[in-house]
Amino acid sequence: MCGIIGYVGFLDAKKTLVDGLQTLEYRGYDSAGISYFTDDGIQTIKTIGKVSVLRELVKAQADDIISTCGIGHTRWATHGGVSDTNSHPHTAGKVTLIHNGIIENYQELQRELEEKGKYPVSQTDSEIAAMVIDDCYQGDPEEAIRLATGKLTGAYGFCIMFEDIPETIYAVRSGSPLVAAHTEKGSIIASDMVALVSHTKHYFVLQENHIAKITKDEILVKNEYGDLYGPTIHHISWDVGAAKKGGYDYFCTTLSISPLKNAQKINEIGERLSEAYSVLWLPSDFKKREGYKRSIELSKEYNLYRQNFCGCVYSRREAEHE
Ligand code: GLU
Repeated sequence: MCGIIGYVGFLDAKKTLVDGLQTLEYRGYDSAGISYFTDDGIQTIKTIGKVSVLRELVKAQADDIISTCGIGHTRWATHGGVSDTNSHPHTAGKVTLIHNGIIENYQELQRELEEKGKYPVSQTDSEIAAMVIDDCYQGDPEEAIRLATGKLTGAYGFCIMFEDIPETIYAVRSGSPLVAAHTEKGSIIASDMVALVSHTKHYFVLQENHIAKITKDEILVKNEYGDLYGPTIHHISWDVGAAKKGGYDYFCTTLSISPLKNAQKINEIGERLSEAYSVLWLPSDFKKREGYKRSIELSKEYNLYRQNFCGCVYSRREAEHE
């Protein structure tokens, strides 16, 4: 599976992003990367392997660079092999993007772009999405996102930065979850609550096809018609640290049904896993419990589908709030 984080605010963005990616490691991934605004434009550091490798690279290459806005991703490859080039973020023209999910019609879109003389450097569906957004970009980012996502089929959670709009992240999703929060230290968005809880107890769920404009001062959300939308703010009543304090050994995010289009099988498995993993914290003796064996069987089945399932997993508690 895969993870998304975006941050803009008063903290060191590089560190905030890498720390956030570390919290998402439990989802599984094959590569990791970040992009961040600097005085010289957007810079990207990405690599196959662990977040710890990325952290070392960031330290070696960008320790003295000040940045307060960026996006980070852990990739679970679905289209294109595991390579530095295929890792996210991807840049196309003015657009730098991270993507959770799968763009089903990317080959058709790639052909259209190639007819215009625009060629990708990676083998990913995600770079094609970046290219389509850039192709639609005439100075109005929301319009470009709206036009481009109208051409995409599949599942996506995107965080997008435009080279000529500093200190700003745009986000949109369909089928793949994104949660966000504005705090006194800035604004943060992620694919999973786990990356948010160390920053805030208040968050909202970005609705499908809404576009969020994220700056250090606020998060503005517009609905699919371009009208301002006031998202419902929810309160997190749990804490990652509580796992240790409460004597529990394992953290387990419960699963809920994904709205991913054309993926009934995945939904079925998600639903059954949701029943099996009915708690957020697994008790120390969970291996002895009745549900454990069934959970393992389901997990094996789930593994067969996890590439497609990527990005569709979020906690039951968030689902209940929606
Ligand atoms: N389909 C994209 C890729 O293969 C995104 C995978 C993911 O969700 O991590 O790069």
